[in-house]
Amino acid sequence: MSDEFPFFKQHPELTYLDSAATSQKPQAVIDALTAYYTDENANVHRGLYKLAYNTTETYEAVRAQAAHFINAPAADQIVFTRSTTDGLNLVASSFGPLAVHEGDEILVSGAEHHSNFIPWQQLAKRTGAKFVVAPVTKAGNTNPAAIERLLTPRTKILALAQVTNVAGGAVAIRPLADLVHARGGYMVVDGAQAVAHMKVDVQALGADFYAFSGHKMYGPTGIGVLYGRADLLAAMPPVQFGGEMIDEVQDAVSTWAAVPLKFEAGTPNIAGVFGLKAALDYVSHLNMANVSAHDHALVQQLRAGLAKIPGITLYGDDQSIGIVSFNLAGVHPHDLATVLDEANIAVRAGHHCAQPLMARLGVPATVRASFGVYNTPQDVEALIAAVDEGRQFFH
Ligand code: PLP
Repeated sequence: MSDEFPFFKQHPELTYLDSAATSQKPQAVIDALTAYYTDENANVHRGLYKLAYNTTETYEAVRAQAAHFINAPAADQIVFTRSTTDGLNLVASSFGPLAVHEGDEILVSGAEHHSNFIPWQQLAKRTGAKFVVAPVTKAGNTNPAAIERLLTPRTKILALAQVTNVAGGAVAIRPLADLVHARGGYMVVDGAQAVAHMKVDVQALGADFYAFSGHKMYGPTGIGVLYGRADLLAAMPPVQFGGEMIDEVQDAVSTWAAVPLKFEAGTPNIAGVFGLKAALDYVSHLNMANVSAHDHALVQQLRAGLAKIPGITLYGDDQSIGIVSFNLAGVHPHDLATVLDEANIAVRAGHHCAQPLMARLGVPATVRASFGVYNTPQDVEALIAAVDEGRQFFH
């Protein structure tokens, strides 16, 4: 598998265990970016010459492909964004004020990434709504029972990650979506850690909005996807203004293009969309049952190996999706990560943009290893051995 990823030829010495931060890119994605700039470079939705027309056709075909990838009913329910962060901020700034008013409630889990936490916290501040943060499980995952308990008839938005980014727990979205819908609220799903690891069906999930990033699913940085329910997208005002998003502009008034272009002001990341096409092709051709089995085997192997090392605390559980977070007693995660770096092992150490979760776990940070399709049992062995050496070095 790693043969398809030129990064590993450049860095044969490296054990890369940070795919939850960003995945490496297969040759096909790199080639698609180069091909766009060498062969297909033209702006979209503007030129009347053949090249611009063809580039626009491809750009719009990728929108349809992204819709198909997550089983969205129609291509125009897909907005190209910069990232998950960008998509969630768009929903909070545009849809937020339509749905949330003074005295209403917005509910998130204490395990959310800041990208699916701060936009809602700030929306609550702006609207006078109550921002409710649900307690997490002992393992550091979203606690569905706590969410259920905290849903009220005033809950207008429930925003949850489908897979959390520290403990790696998958949340069963559908039952919670049904509960929030029954109370007249909306379900927003952060899919950043899910799309590379499981088949996503936004209709089966009951998601009103679903956001993800290209770069965590073997695609380029700077391109993301936001899915939205058609009637909600139609009602939402644009939040960025400029070229491409208009219908007609006069001195005194302007009108907007239809969805989704009204949300895509300015020249978009066309190269990113072409690269995303190759990433969608790549992930679509993976056998997701094999991806899951591979994730699961590596997670179990790593957890079992680390559990034998004295002083290790593990977060998450055996069902974590391609992520293992841990700490070593008496050693700051940054120091451990530095020692691992000396052994050419790349992991993430820090608060993982989840400070509210760190506060709940009572730690400043954790070390996080995360897997992509290219990781092997040898990578896991190398990490276990290096953590054990680190323990001997520090103790
Ligand atoms: N949500 C989750 C669960 C994440 O793990 C991340 C990135 O780590 C994000 C949101 C933000 O993704 P991006 O930085 O690509 O916008």
